[in-house]
Amino acid sequence: MESLNWVDSTPEMKSYSLIAPAKINLYLEIIGDRPDGFHELVMILQSIELADRLQIKSNNTQKISLHCNHPQLPADRTNLAYRAAQLMCEEFPDIYDNYGGIDITIEKNIPVAAGLAGGSTDAAAVLVGINLIWELGLTQPELQELGAKLGSDIPFCISGGTAIATGKGEQLDPLNDLDHLWVVLAKYNNLGISTPWAYQAYRQQFGDTYVLDKEGIKSRTAQIHSGPLVSAIIHKDGAAIGKLLHNDLEKVVLPEIPQVAQLRRAFAETGVLGTMMSGSGPTVFALCESEVRAQQVKQEVSEMIGDPELNFWISKLTSAGIQVAS
Ligand code: ATP
Repeated sequence: MESLNWVDSTPEMKSYSLIAPAKINLYLEIIGDRPDGFHELVMILQSIELADRLQIKSNNTQKISLHCNHPQLPADRTNLAYRAAQLMCEEFPDIYDNYGGIDITIEKNIPVAAGLAGGSTDAAAVLVGINLIWELGLTQPELQELGAKLGSDIPFCISGGTAIATGKGEQLDPLNDLDHLWVVLAKYNNLGISTPWAYQAYRQQFGDTYVLDKEGIKSRTAQIHSGPLVSAIIHKDGAAIGKLLHNDLEKVVLPEIPQVAQLRRAFAETGVLGTMMSGSGPTVFALCESEVRAQQVKQEVSEMIGDPELNFWISKLTSAGIQVAS
């Protein structure tokens, strides 16, 4: 990619405002171990309208600077958004020299360490934003290839919508839109789950069930394509989708964190289409057929649990990935 031509003139200072949606997992199955130490996964990922907003602009300083309105988030090199900018500078050093550094401002709306890919979507937005500012003309697959170097959820966050994700989660097969459905998300303020912890705990407890041979992994991966959940998605059948939600990581998180298990039971009692923990949690979501229904469910669960530490968000499913704000 270094072969791109760079413009030998003083570039104007450009700025883009980007919308970076969160994701939920409609399906997460752990198939086995990979030689690179990651897990072999089969997932169905879904973007939701709950989104961070990022402002990306060139700054003429040869530095990357990052500002974030969330007090617990690092504003340094450990922030995934920063690392995305750093990756672009390393991949395109001549263009970086020409345009200068990047200012990133993150307005954080997605809860952190919540299983909603908040960090990944910020990184995806930075890749898309720098592609625009530097006029690189990289295609979506090229940006996704770069994103996969930083994190397995980033390729999905770039394109968004509804997709089957296999491998580490970076191999995507897009499905049709499901943007007629709504979700209620609930998360305890004081609870965050480390994704590596959840996967390690799963390996410890269920490692003996892992499929080890390549053929076995291939056939498990193929099963999802012809399986009932994909069929329900194709038919936009909310009731069937709700019944078929699945997340293997619930097997380690629910017994460990009783509040999450209680939250999931409370959602189920309201008779929603379906309820599930997203990713490695601790966010639990409930699928609803309308916004009105989502509001009722939020009210009922909030009254049932009655804990001020419990936060709710209502969001629509969306077919959009990273978007430039109008
Ligand atoms: P995933 O679902 O992709 O596993 P998550 O939603 O569980 O991710 P994140 O919100 O992405 O979790 O945060 C995971 C960790 O990454 C946090 O401990 C946080 O400090 C760190 N992090 C780094 N950069 C960011 C960012 N821009 N936004 C959120 N978290 C970030």
